[in-house]
Amino acid sequence: MTARAVGMAPDGRTPLKTILELAKDKGVATGLVTTSGITDATPAAFAAHVPHRSDEASVAAQELQLGVDVLMGGRKLFFLPEAQGGKRKDGRMIEGGRIDHAAHRNDAAATIRDTLAFDEAVGVALDFQRRNPDTLLIVTADHETGGMALIGHSKDSKEYVGIDLSAIQKAQTSMELIVDELGKTPTPEKVREAVKRHLAIQITEDEAKLVADDTIRKLDPKNYSYATLHSLAFVLRPYLRVGWASQTHTASPLFAFGSGPGSEELVGFRHNTELFRIMKAALGASR
Ligand SMILES: [Zn+2]
Repeated sequence: MTARAVGMAPDGRTPLKTILELAKDKGVATGLVTTSGITDATPAAFAAHVPHRSDEASVAAQELQLGVDVLMGGRKLFFLPEAQGGKRKDGRMIEGGRIDHAAHRNDAAATIRDTLAFDEAVGVALDFQRRNPDTLLIVTADHETGGMALIGHSKDSKEYVGIDLSAIQKAQTSMELIVDELGKTPTPEKVREAVKRHLAIQITEDEAKLVADDTIRKLDPKNYSYATLHSLAFVLRPYLRVGWASQTHTASPLFAFGSGPGSEELVGFRHNTELFRIMKAALGASR
């Protein structure tokens, strides 16, 4: 059993038919759209079979071989040959996962902004579903990331208080880019200046020192592997009133909403593998 295989049986070697392959068999148009890499494990699981998710060059080839009608996302380098700055060694000439990336970095503003962008995309999909009622629309996730808590102590509160959206709204830049700008050895002065300029937050000298020293990661380097980011998130906690339980994927149950044929089954607790059966049944009913 491997947890790295994509589109395979639990033995990690036997390919299993994906929902997109079933749709192709029925002559239904297919598409994969993501704000993350189109060869990431999540989109790949709809169209490819590889023993290890890191084999993104094979994922790219298989997505094209299957003839997915619409492919929109990042990672052009896996579709380009090395001669054109890509990573393909066979020379082929070819042409909202970011919520997860922001939550890995414990960045509240970027997580919320990417979620709002995803919400807009769901709105467009819902409009389409209403005009095409034989379409099954499912909105879900493959996991939660970060364990974001929308509550915390402010600097002067005695009780827990809710998230400060007005403070979060002032963020101009993602924490990922701020930390990139700070580099490997930031000084407390540089940290204070960057946090003020990008996030409109005036942190104290002690807090800036904690970020510059990356104290949180030093306390628990195995669980906090993103340099500087978790120390920054920790310091920002009383200003934004957002806390984080983790820097990686959590075991939280997820929502699965839907509209259209079969969506009435999206109730109560379900194992996520049930979604495949519900989609397959809708595919059968639509033709
Ligand atoms: Zn992730």
